[in-house]
Amino acid sequence: MHADYPLRFDPIWRRYLWGGRRLETMLGKRLPPGDDYAESWEIVDHGTDQSRVMAGPLRGRTLRELVRECGDELLGAAASYAQFPLLLKFLDVHVRTSLQVHPDDAYASRLEPPDRGKTEAWFVLHAEPHSRIYAGLRPGVDRPELSARIASGDADRCLESFEPAVGACVLIPAGTVHALGDGLVVAEVQQSSDTTFRLFDWNRLGRDGRPRPLHVQESLDVIDFHARAPRPVAPQQTGVSHVQRLVACDKFTIDRWTITADEPLGGDGRCHLIVCRPPPRGVRSHRAGGPCFWISVRPNERPQGSECFVNPSRD
Ligand SMILES: [Zn+2]
Repeated sequence: MHADYPLRFDPIWRRYLWGGRRLETMLGKRLPPGDDYAESWEIVDHGTDQSRVMAGPLRGRTLRELVRECGDELLGAAASYAQFPLLLKFLDVHVRTSLQVHPDDAYASRLEPPDRGKTEAWFVLHAEPHSRIYAGLRPGVDRPELSARIASGDADRCLESFEPAVGACVLIPAGTVHALGDGLVVAEVQQSSDTTFRLFDWNRLGRDGRPRPLHVQESLDVIDFHARAPRPVAPQQTGVSHVQRLVACDKFTIDRWTITADEPLGGDGRCHLIVCRPPPRGVRSHRAGGPCFWISVRPNERPQGSECFVNPSRD
C-alpha cells in the first residue's frame, strides 16, 4: 500500500431531528445547509456506509477495499477481520436522543442480515451546564417494572443519570440502556454495527407528528438487567506521563494523550485510530522504521477543528 500515512477520510453526515450545527461551529467541519446535522461518521466500514480516503495516492478508495487488499498491513494483529471492526463518529446532541440499547455479538449475529454487537464509549467534548447522560438502570429495576414503565410513559424513572464534565469518558457495554442528553457534543468509538433498539422516546412526536417506532420486545430481550450503571471512567496511569488509559475492554482500548510537542505514536504493530483535538499542526509518516508518525500541537493553540485518522499497524 503506497499511501500518505496516517489515513484521513471524508466524513459521512447523518441528519436526525436531534442534531444541530455544532459539528461545524465547534469541531470545524464544513456542513451543507441545514440545522439537523447529528453525526459525522469519520471512520466506518459497514455495509454501504464506507469511508473514502480524503487525499493522497489512495484518494477515493474505500476502507473496505483497503481492509480486503492489505488487511494485515492495516490491522496487524486484528487482520483476520473481513471488515474494519470499529466505527468512529462525532455527535452533536442538540436535543436528547431516544433511550436505546444495542445487542451483544451473539444476539446481533442471529439478525437478518447479521450484524456485530455494539459496545460503545463516549468522550465528552462539550457539555452545557445541565447536560445529562442517561446510562443504566436503577438498582432493582427488573424486566416487568421497566416494561410497565415504558407502557405508562415514564420509563425515565427507571434510569440512572449524571451530569458529565468535559473530558469525561463513559463506557457503554452492549445491553446497557442509554441516551445522550441536550447540549452534549461527544466523540464516540464503537463496534462497527448499526443495530439500535429504541425503547422509549420521552413521549415525543416525530417530524410527521406521530410517535417514532419503538422496539420494546427486542430491547427487553437484550438488556442486561444485572449490570451496574456506568459512570465516568477513572483515568489510569500508564507509566508514560502524558498518556492516560481511559478504557480497556475486549473490543477496544482508549488512551488520552496530552501533548505540547512532537511525540512518536504507533510503531507497535497495532492499528490506531486517532482523534486530534485541537487539530495537529503537522502529521507525517515515518517510513524508515521506528515510530509511525508524530503529531505536533502548539501550546495555547485555540481549538479550531477535530480530525480523525487511521494509523496502520505498519508502514
Ligand atoms: Zn448507542
